[in-house]
Amino acid sequence: MTPESTVPASDRPVALVTGGRTGLGLAIARRFAADGCSLVLASRSPDHLAHGAESLRSSGAEILTVPTDVRDPAQVGALLEQVRERFGRLDILVNNAAGNFVAASETMSPNAWRAVVGIVLDGTYYCCRASFPLLRVSPRAAIVNIVASYAWLAGPGTAHSAAAKAGVVSLTRTLAVEWAPHRIRVNAVAPGPVRTEGTDRQLWRSEALTEAVRAGIPLGRFGTPEEIASAVSFLAGREATYITGEVLTVDGGQWLGHGVMDLLAHAEGRGQP
Ligand code: NAP
Repeated sequence: MTPESTVPASDRPVALVTGGRTGLGLAIARRFAADGCSLVLASRSPDHLAHGAESLRSSGAEILTVPTDVRDPAQVGALLEQVRERFGRLDILVNNAAGNFVAASETMSPNAWRAVVGIVLDGTYYCCRASFPLLRVSPRAAIVNIVASYAWLAGPGTAHSAAAKAGVVSLTRTLAVEWAPHRIRVNAVAPGPVRTEGTDRQLWRSEALTEAVRAGIPLGRFGTPEEIASAVSFLAGREATYITGEVLTVDGGQWLGHGVMDLLAHAEGRGQP
């Protein structure tokens, strides 16, 4: 996006980031602040939101924090009502909130399934739907959904998340077409492995596992939250005004190269990465 910090506050684009207090969400919010946006952060925990707002304070952006569980359409409706009251506009929606943990499909409880699908798929839809009235009157409306490459590959051990992200990819493409007449662009970013508090706690819980993930990345390293935020900013911004319904993968070549990395590892006698 083009920096817009010289623009009066009331003319600045407003960006809503769900799950914006941690990991990638916070980096995305920080990037939008640098791009000159006012910010809305929405996640469940008031403490998390206060921490997020505090760490963004030096950006100078106007920030609204709204405790919200995106699984609840009433709370999402109340969130968008607060956005309308405070800013009178919404230009960018980033559906970043997610939950994930490792669980074998055959023993996963219905509650565990429901929790992840509820946040990722239902929450994304509820936020898109509730944002529509404000987005349709924005001169530069954009939605960016955060997905993952296991949406189109396989997600062994995380079937709930993989199925939900696949649903979000489908929703991205459907809304891109359905809402194109309203000039709302809808795209997705699929981050590769980026170490965050969430991934270290729920997914890559040992150094051996972390190293195995790293070894499967052709560029040979984890991504950074800032690299993901750059892609989100691009898709939401003025350089991407003819892009809609697209999924931009930002993963160091992970999903394309994994089979090749396996073959190379075998050829060199290193076994499976
Ligand atoms: P994270 O650190 O676990 O953050 C998840 C965020 O979602 C938190 O701020 C959390 O805040 C919020 N959240 C959880 N449940 C919520 C709910 N019901 N309602 C509202 N907010 C909720 O995750 P991350 O690693 O930064 O990942 C961010 C996004 O990137 C996710 O969509 C994830 O699937 C995707 N992704 C990440 C990676 C990676 O390697 N990090 C790779 C591929 C895709 P509260 O606890 O306050 O609610």
